Amino acid sequence: MICRICTNDKGLKTLRVRRAQYVQCPMCRCMFVDPYPRREINNAFQGVETVERLEIEEVNRRDYFDRRLARLENRLGKAYRGARLLEIGCGAGILLQEAWHRGWRADAVELSVELAAVARKNSPEATIIIGDIQNLEPTGTQYDAVISLDVLEHVLVPMTMVENCRELLKPGGVMMLQTPNSRSLRSRTQGAKWDMLDPDQHLNLFSPDALRVLLTTVGFDILEMSTASGTGLERGAAGWSARVKESLLGLLNLGSALVVVARKPV
Ligand SMILES: [Zn+2]
Repeated sequence: MICRICTNDKGLKTLRVRRAQYVQCPMCRCMFVDPYPRREINNAFQGVETVERLEIEEVNRRDYFDRRLARLENRLGKAYRGARLLEIGCGAGILLQEAWHRGWRADAVELSVELAAVARKNSPEATIIIGDIQNLEPTGTQYDAVISLDVLEHVLVPMTMVENCRELLKPGGVMMLQTPNSRSLRSRTQGAKWDMLDPDQHLNLFSPDALRVLLTTVGFDILEMSTASGTGLERGAAGWSARVKESLLGLLNLGSALVVVARKPV
């Protein structure tokens, strides 16, 4: 058995989760499902109920999306106004809508036909391509920035996703990825009960080291990596406490999600 991310073949352990199991790599600390799915196509979200619920959830996470976009904008500087942004996995399109409000020219790739329809309604200026980032037909457009929140853990071949993001970026372009942190406080304390362990949905779970290996192998320069906590849905006292927790856990990189910003070299 070898690690799917760093190719280490020593000391890999398995962790039983419901009817499936994950392999844990002691070198890069990633986790991946075992046996690995044989299908070649990524699964899309399905079902009208899911779509409606997701749209309401995204509307309630507007500030959270704004904070992510603000970080990306800091990295591009003033040049971001009118710059081209591509979101991978736009869901109901609320982040896209925010991006247009902030001055980006934002487009997206979305696997689910149902979600793409909702995203087109929410963000009519955007071009939304229905497709899989793993085997996307080239469109000829190159972007100043790519953003993808909570998608990397779902894809069958993370390396291909990141390579394709690199192809879609202009030289010097910037990418932001967010994905669960396999070295978070929650993961360390909850073990096999960690809520991100979902063998049907989350095929690969990254640690800071594993994400660094993935991005540098593909040729990205990592500009910043940090952890985040909370879903952006907490309100009032819960929101305040989530922000305090986020800063404290962030100091030790123990937050529940990893957020990385990387640049395609010029
Ligand atoms: Zn590894």
